[in-house]
Amino acid sequence: MAGLRTAEGARRAGYTGPITFLGAEAHAPYNRPPLSKELLQTEGQGHADVAFPIRSALEEGVTWVLGRAAVSLDTARTVVVDDAGDEHPYSALVIATGLRPKPLPIDDHGLGGIHVLRTLDDAVALREVLRPGANVVILGSGFVGCEIAATAAKNGATVSVVTQSRVPLLRAVGPLLGAEIRRRHEEHGVRFFTGESLFGLVGDPAVERVILTSGVMLECDVLVVAVGSDPNIEWLADSGLDVSDGVLVDGGLRAVGVDGRVNPDVFAVGDVARYPNPLFDDVARRVEHWNLPTETGKRAGQLIAAHLAGEDCEPLAAAGFAPLPSFWSDQYDAHLLAFGMTYLADRSELVAGSPDDECVVEFYRGDDLVGVCGIGMRSAVQAYRTRFATPALQ
Ligand SMILES: Cc1cc2nc3c(=O)[nH]c(=O)nc-3n(C[C@H](O)[C@H](O)[C@H](O)COP(=O)(O)OP(=O)(O)OC[C@H]3O[C@@H](n4cnc5c(N)ncnc54)[C@H](O)[C@@H]3O)c2cc1C
Repeated sequence: MAGLRTAEGARRAGYTGPITFLGAEAHAPYNRPPLSKELLQTEGQGHADVAFPIRSALEEGVTWVLGRAAVSLDTARTVVVDDAGDEHPYSALVIATGLRPKPLPIDDHGLGGIHVLRTLDDAVALREVLRPGANVVILGSGFVGCEIAATAAKNGATVSVVTQSRVPLLRAVGPLLGAEIRRRHEEHGVRFFTGESLFGLVGDPAVERVILTSGVMLECDVLVVAVGSDPNIEWLADSGLDVSDGVLVDGGLRAVGVDGRVNPDVFAVGDVARYPNPLFDDVARRVEHWNLPTETGKRAGQLIAAHLAGEDCEPLAAAGFAPLPSFWSDQYDAHLLAFGMTYLADRSELVAGSPDDECVVEFYRGDDLVGVCGIGMRSAVQAYRTRFATPALQ
C-alpha cells in the first residue's frame, strides 16, 4: 500500500518517468484490514475483493515484478538485487517492505496447525480452518489477535486467547477500554488466559494441545501466533542505512545512513519507516496504522518528483512532517476509532458515554492530550482531529 501510494504521489507531483514495483508477494497491492475481518469470514473472497484499484496515472510506464523479493541494496551503485539475482538500477528508491509477524516464541517442532496473519495467503489458509467447533488458541491480544478471536467466535469456533497482558489491547487503548473489549469477547464465549504464555505444544503431526506457563493445558486444533511484528529490513543489512528498528528517515522520508547522513535518493514509507512526528515529540518511531502509508507515500512522492526533476529538495524536506496517526478496529458490533498516539499516554479519562455502550476516552501524557479513542460516537471522536497541534507547529 505504501509503495503504491508513493508512486501515485510522485505522479501527482509531476513525475512521468518509469516506475518498477518489486514485490515479494505474487499479488498486486491489496488492502490488509479485511484480512482479519470480512475476508476471514467470507468463503470465496479473494484478491479481487481487497485489491487496490490501479489509477490511470499508473497504467503507463509501470513494470510489475511480483513474486520476487529484494535481497540487497547497493547505494553506491544505486542498484537493488532480487532473489533471482536480477539487478534493478534506480534513480530513486522507495523502501516499502512493511512488517512480518513475529514467530512463535517457542520451538514449533515443525508441527502443523500453526498460523500467522499478515498476507492474503495467510488469511485464506486460516479461513479454511476456522470452522465451527474448532478449538482455536490465539497467542497475543493486540488488534490482529482480537479481531481473529471475534471472527472465529462468530464462526462458531471455541476460542481461547492467551496473553501476557492484563487486558487485551492494553498498549493501544488502555485499561478501561481494554477491560470492556474483554467483556464483549467473553459475552461471545471467548476465554482469556492473562499473564500467560506458551510453555509447550503437544501433537503429531499437527498441534493438538498447548501447555501454558501456569501448567494449564488447552485443546488446540488451530494455534494463531499474533504477538506483534518485525520490520522487513534484513535485505538492507549491508546497505549502510540505519535499520536499527525499521528504516530511519528524516522529515522528507529520506533514509538516514549509519553515519547520520541523509541519502537524497532513498526513501522509506509505511510501516517500515521510522520518523519523528513533531505533533508529539522528536523521537523517531515506527507507526503501524493504515492511514500512514497514504500520508508517508504522499509526502515521499512529492520529494521524489522534485528530486528527479533536479530541484532543491531541502526546503520541502525541512517543512515539518506531522501526520496524525489514526486507527480503527471492528470486533462484533464494536467499532473502535482512535486518533493520535494513545500508547504514549500515562493516563486515560472517560469523557463521554459509557464503555458498555458507546464512549469517548482521552489519553494524556502529563498534561498533553496525545490520543483519543472511542467505541462508536464517531463524530465526537473525529472532532478531536484538530486538537493535537503542538506549539512547535503553530
Ligand atoms: C490482518 C491485518 C489487519 C489490519 N487491520 C487494520 C485496521 O483495522 N486498522 C488499521 O489502522 N490498520 C490495520 N492494519 C495495518 C495496515 O494494514 C498496515 O499499516 C498497512 O498494511 C501497512 O502498509 P505497508 O505498505 O507499509 O506494508 P505492507 O502492507 O506490509 O506491505 C509491504 C509489502 O512489501 C513486501 N515485501 C517485504 N519484504 C520484501 C522484499 N525484501 N522485497 C520485496 N517485497 C517485500 C511484502 O510482501 C508486502 O507485500 C492491519 C494489518 C493486518 C496485517
